[in-house]
Amino acid sequence: MIVADRKPINEILDMVKESEKVLIVGCKGCVTVCNVGGAKEVGILASILRIARKREGRPLEVEEKTIERQCDPEYVAQLKDLVGEYDAVISMACGVGPQFLSEAYPEQRFFPAVNTTFFGGAVQHGIWAERCAGCGNCVIHYFDGMCPVARCSKSLLNGPCGGSAGGKCEISKEVDCIWDMIVRKKMEQGRLGDLLEIKPAKDWRTARDGGPRRSVREELVYE
Ligand code: SF4
Ligand code: SF4
Repeated sequence: MIVADRKPINEILDMVKESEKVLIVGCKGCVTVCNVGGAKEVGILASILRIARKREGRPLEVEEKTIERQCDPEYVAQLKDLVGEYDAVISMACGVGPQFLSEAYPEQRFFPAVNTTFFGGAVQHGIWAERCAGCGNCVIHYFDGMCPVARCSKSLLNGPCGGSAGGKCEISKEVDCIWDMIVRKKMEQGRLGDLLEIKPAKDWRTARDGGPRRSVREELVYE
């Protein structure tokens, strides 16, 4: 899923400093799972903004609405009678949300309350970790299910750098060297030779390097 963090409150307050009436829109997708932008977090942000603005002596009217997904026009359409009623709309979805909202309602201004960080999962309650960089041409089968594109700090594909020490990455003792893990697993399974095989060069055109991407499923496209 997409993992995100809420922006600092001062940043959000600054975005809507000219406003008197704002709508906060949450999303029941990934940002709900990582406890950042679901109905509960929308309620918390609304309260914080109301209190902060009251303290400034400039009360802010804040309404709350959480839709199924902000990355789907079907659900974004549910806001059509609402968005025009506010000076500004704050999105608590990943970066896709405020963009879909802006495209659907070009006359309104949308502000992101969330910093979108990575594709990952929960490794422990309350801790999410990066696992995929969305490179589009998945090669983790070469590395026993561990992704050096996303999990090596240098995205090395041919083995560890000289900074790997004691199983840790040179950037921090808190960060496991994924190449150390890949090599260890290959050794344990007696398949170290896999890493000596010459692989085709990775096609980076399927990653961001090839420009904005689209995925088309002809069987699902209506004329
Ligand atoms: S190789 Fe690419 S698609 Fe596969 S897990 Fe790594 S970043 Fe994601
Ligand atoms: S120490 Fe390991 S994870 Fe860190 S940059 Fe070098 S190879 Fe990559």
